[in-house]
Amino acid sequence: MRAAVYKGNQKLVVEEVPTPAPGPGQVVVKVSYCAICGTDVHAFLYDIAPAGTVMGHEYSGIIDRVGAGVTRWKVGDRVVGGGGTAPPGSEPAQRTDPRFNYRTMGFASGRLRAYAEYVLMEEWEPIVLPDGVSDEAAALCEPCAVTVRAVRLSQMKLGDSVAVLGAGPIGLFCLQVAKAAGASAVYVSEPVAARAEAARRLGADAVVDPAKDGALEEIVALSGGTGPDVVFECAAAKGTLDDAFNLVRRHGEVVLIALAWEPTSVLPVDWAAREVKFQASFGTAPEDWRIALDLIQSGKVQMAPMLSEAGFIPLDGIQEAFEALVKPSNQVQMVVRP
Ligand SMILES: [Zn+2]
Repeated sequence: MRAAVYKGNQKLVVEEVPTPAPGPGQVVVKVSYCAICGTDVHAFLYDIAPAGTVMGHEYSGIIDRVGAGVTRWKVGDRVVGGGGTAPPGSEPAQRTDPRFNYRTMGFASGRLRAYAEYVLMEEWEPIVLPDGVSDEAAALCEPCAVTVRAVRLSQMKLGDSVAVLGAGPIGLFCLQVAKAAGASAVYVSEPVAARAEAARRLGADAVVDPAKDGALEEIVALSGGTGPDVVFECAAAKGTLDDAFNLVRRHGEVVLIALAWEPTSVLPVDWAAREVKFQASFGTAPEDWRIALDLIQSGKVQMAPMLSEAGFIPLDGIQEAFEALVKPSNQVQMVVRP
């Protein structure tokens, strides 16, 4: 099969690799769509992914082969590439290792994932893709689930005002999930025009441009002069974590979703007097995927404004796509169609 193998030094090469064969209790999924995640872009930019790995963890596909003893899947079943419940002993290290560090421990070497025609999974790993959810939408279930987790971990209550910093895919899902969870208003900060426009189309009550002076003050004014109750940091740009603290209301909460891979400075004396709270959210748990799929199926979470025909690329276009995404991008979401 063909796969985009990371070679190190910001180089992805599409080449022939052995097509995986399912062992007992395993399935092989033919990948329908695999969305490009900001985490993969960071792993490429900072050369963190070990050479020889195949990245790609946001995907949908079809069960192509089943191994011995597999009873829950049959060939042809449509699946989402994750979200299953791990049996005891197979839980991910991020949930079991009390000192898990994503930067140093998050990228297993040799792992072959879904920037490829086929991907090998344990039979418990995928979840069923319900009728009424397209293969394209299902590929974005994982980033949606990331924001479901963040909103559920937050102290956001029905009627609260919210700010979302950054309108990449995570910010755009966060906006919609916060609304679905009862936010009275969601204000978005985003400098790139195409992403700001997607935020407007997806229901943002206001979108401000952080490159302009007074953008944060505008959100404070819109929230009645106090600042939003909860601020979700979805940008990981220079200074956005500090912006989140500067923006949030007294005793409000900053929720970190986006991961900065470089030191980011904060000036606590500016905002500590408002006695703000801080909550980090990382990854997903199976219930987050179930809730995300429900939100997608019910139409409470939309993706059309995030996806453009130019955003769909063949496997052969992956190097150019990553090179484009390390710069401030006018694309909202890019998706590989292997
Ligand atoms: Zn992701």
